[in-house]
Amino acid sequence: MPTMTSVKHDQLQTSTKAWPPHAPQQLEPTPELMAELAAASARLESASPEEIISWAHDRFAPYLTMATAFGPEGCVILSMLAKVAPETYVFNLDTGYQFQQTLDLRDRIAEKYGIEVDMLQPELSVPEYEALHGGPLYKTNPNQCCFDRKIKVLRQAAQGKHAWMSGIRRDQSADRAQAAIIGWDKKFNLVKVSPLANFTKKDVWNRILAEDVPYNPLHDQGYPSVGCWPCTRAVTDGETDERAGRWSGTGKTECGLHTIQESEGSGI
Ligand code: SF4
Repeated sequence: MPTMTSVKHDQLQTSTKAWPPHAPQQLEPTPELMAELAAASARLESASPEEIISWAHDRFAPYLTMATAFGPEGCVILSMLAKVAPETYVFNLDTGYQFQQTLDLRDRIAEKYGIEVDMLQPELSVPEYEALHGGPLYKTNPNQCCFDRKIKVLRQAAQGKHAWMSGIRRDQSADRAQAAIIGWDKKFNLVKVSPLANFTKKDVWNRILAEDVPYNPLHDQGYPSVGCWPCTRAVTDGETDERAGRWSGTGKTECGLHTIQESEGSGI
């Protein structure tokens, strides 16, 4: 059974796989690049997710990467990557607060598809981080906690890359409804590729069931969206918003990875 990779990301090292190639130069959002991305995005509106991934691979590999939290969408993209571009470097933002079921899914994906998702950790362990802040920051300042344990790690992971893929769907939330298939991510200075932007929740689950794609068992226990365990709860039958169980009661709806506004620790 594959073992979990464990990375102190500030050191940019992995324990079981080579670090992906580092681009000699970051992409700049020139008018020419923006026009190219807009044209590609318009052209790919009616393409299948596999065709979108293939385009991104042809255009940006080996500087194409993917971040996954092992949600249903991420698992579906991993199943597509296995067919289209299995060498793509995929990572998880391993906050230290993920459910064990999520961590186990990493190994199930590796077994089925041979894709070993790298687990990228923040500089400070959970005990170190909580000691620094006098307790769990997710209770008092979840925006800062997400910034420190997700956004900063993703920013480091973005270094030397040109494009990243995410599993967002337009029908997930108002924030995500504006997502382009191919766009420029100002927050991370990367091209952002959203192969499932036009997929519905039903499309995702149809694919999972048709192809026996591994998924998080928590989805069968009332958790439509799974994040860190302190900030995720099961939803009730009457709750139709699939992200209602995330940061419940706080007014926060996103960790900041997929929202537009720029911030250094607040408001994300
Ligand atoms: S989801 Fe919660 S525990 Fe996870 S990084 Fe954000 S605030 Fe911290």
